[in-house]
Parts: sequence; C-alpha cells; structure tokens
Amino acid sequence: MFKTILIPIDVGHTDKSNHIISIAATNGNKDARIILLNVVEDIPKWAAIELPDGFQTKSLQDAKQQLDAIANASEINVEVDVRIGHPYQTILDTVKEVDADLIVIASHQPGLQDYLLGSTAAKVVRHAKCSVLVVR
Ligand code: ADP
Repeated sequence: MFKTILIPIDVGHTDKSNHIISIAATNGNKDARIILLNVVEDIPKWAAIELPDGFQTKSLQDAKQQLDAIANASEINVEVDVRIGHPYQTILDTVKEVDADLIVIASHQPGLQDYLLGSTAAKVVRHAKCSVLVVR
C-alpha cells in the first residue's frame, strides 16, 4: 500500500478524474495522502508579450478552481496543488518534493486512442523513480 499518491490532472480533460481518484485510494493505505496536481504551462517571455495582461495568473486561478471542484465533489479526501512549469518536469519535481511513492496518471487524452501513451504520460513513466499506475 502506498503512503503519498500524486495524481497529475490535465484540466482540459478531467472526465476520468473521479475514477482515477478511486483507483488511487484503493492503492493507498488508510491515511494515504492523495494530491491532485495541475501544471500550468510556463509561457516564455517572448510569447507572453502577445497575451493579455494577467493571462498566466488567470490560468492558475482557473486550474485551481477546477481542481477544487473535483476535490469537493469527491468522497475521498484529496489535496490540490497547481504549479507553473513544464508539465512532465514539474510532475517529477513535485514527486520528489512531496516524497510520493505512487503516481496515478491517465494514459492520454480521450480521442487519441491510437497512441499507447501521451507525451507527458510517456515521459513520466520513463523517468519517474517511484511506481506509476497508468489508467487507460
Ligand atoms: P496527450 O499527449 O494525449 O495529451 P498527455 O501525456 O499530455 O497525453 O496526458 C496524459 C496525462 O498526463 C493526463 O491525463 C494527465 O494525467 C497528465 N498531464 C498532461 N498534462 C498535464 C498537466 N499540464 N498537468 C498535470 N498533468 C498533466
């Protein structure tokens, strides 16, 4: 049984979130800490100039709101965490920081069934030092 479980969530595709949370809870011990994480893509300065003021702050707020909604709707107690960065690198940095022993991740976004694993999920599986459970 796992103690600290990280669930990376792409806020554009949250339909499986409840299912994934229950899989995480099933694999966690009684007091397992379950953390939902969204990584808001860091926008390079040259690209940010083209965007409206406060675009990234708004993206962070929207992502936090979506994760809070998932957490509030869940019968399972989960924490939420939203960070700015490069998704796969930030997922791995967070794993280290919270000392997660399991990552539960969806294989890819719905509709791209031809791929076995999406690009973020593939890099997480390849580089994570802890166990990774891929939900298809
Ligand atoms: P695809 O390339 O088909 O979009 P991804 O590998 O990006 O597939 O997504 C698979 C899973 O990776 C998502 O369901 C989510 O668990 C995780 N993921 C992708 N992007 C992010 C992100 N920005 N923040 C947190 N998790 C993410």
